[in-house]
Amino acid sequence: MTLAVEQVADPPPTEADEALLSINNVEVIFNDVILVLRGISLDARKGKVTALLGANGAGKSTTLKAIAGLLLTEDGEISRGTVTYDGRDVTYAAADRKVRDGIFLVMEGRGIIQDMTIRDNLRLGAFTRPDARVEAEIEQVYRFFPRLKERTGLAGYLSGGEQQMLAIGRAMMAKPRLIMMDEPSMGLSPLLVKEVFGIIRRLNRELGISILLVEQNANMALKIADYGYIMENGKIVLDGPAEELMRNEDVKEFYLGGGEERRSFLNVKSFRRRKRWL
Ligand code: ATP
Repeated sequence: MTLAVEQVADPPPTEADEALLSINNVEVIFNDVILVLRGISLDARKGKVTALLGANGAGKSTTLKAIAGLLLTEDGEISRGTVTYDGRDVTYAAADRKVRDGIFLVMEGRGIIQDMTIRDNLRLGAFTRPDARVEAEIEQVYRFFPRLKERTGLAGYLSGGEQQMLAIGRAMMAKPRLIMMDEPSMGLSPLLVKEVFGIIRRLNRELGISILLVEQNANMALKIADYGYIMENGKIVLDGPAEELMRNEDVKEFYLGGGEERRSFLNVKSFRRRKRWL
């Protein structure tokens, strides 16, 4: 007996499948000698949450700084490869141009201005937008973060979690299409981590903002992400849909397990990257 094999055609690509941001085979070098990114490629798709995961020193923050155009201040540069945003090559575009075009980086350590009020920090977020209806937009931020509205003092007096919320609120004021977040869970209690990740998901679902999320907390990140990349030693070693990564035995062992010592993905044969580099 022969079995009929049903042909299932791939669904046509929708706008949501398109990459808003693509980095292709990017190398980053510091001080002309230290090669930190060794040819990485990834996509942040329109309307999706993309997670970039990896241990300390893998090169995650460097990736975000390269995209945002912030390497020069650290004597770093993209020495090879391209960054494409919304179909345009922005590899060497200036940082402020990228903010105006809708790419906003929420930095590790939050980068809020401690001796300014919460409102003034939020106003700063809109500085690239002369058309902003600043006060009305601040009210929209307060709808996401009611706790910030209750606090009247200087930003420096906010708790770690509130500072993280303010940093995200300031990003909202720039009306970005893509928010890149560097370790939003850093230094927060488990309860606050949950709250902050819930807000990131809402920004994505309710405001349609695409998110590129850098995290060491793989468990939380994969729960809200659509797609994930895992990075080690300046290279992507694995990528896939978030639910697939959560089921992957090696990912479970290395990143989702309870406190086991983390081994290197590079030693695991199944982690050899499937994609071919350019
Ligand atoms: P973490 O979670 O610790 O921030 P990460 O994955 O974000 O880790 P990066 O901060 O991107 O890692 O750093 C990757 C590597 O690049 C590290 O070995 C780091 O020492 C090196 N590096 C980062 N910035 C510079 C710099 N300005 N000059 C020289 N080396 C740097």
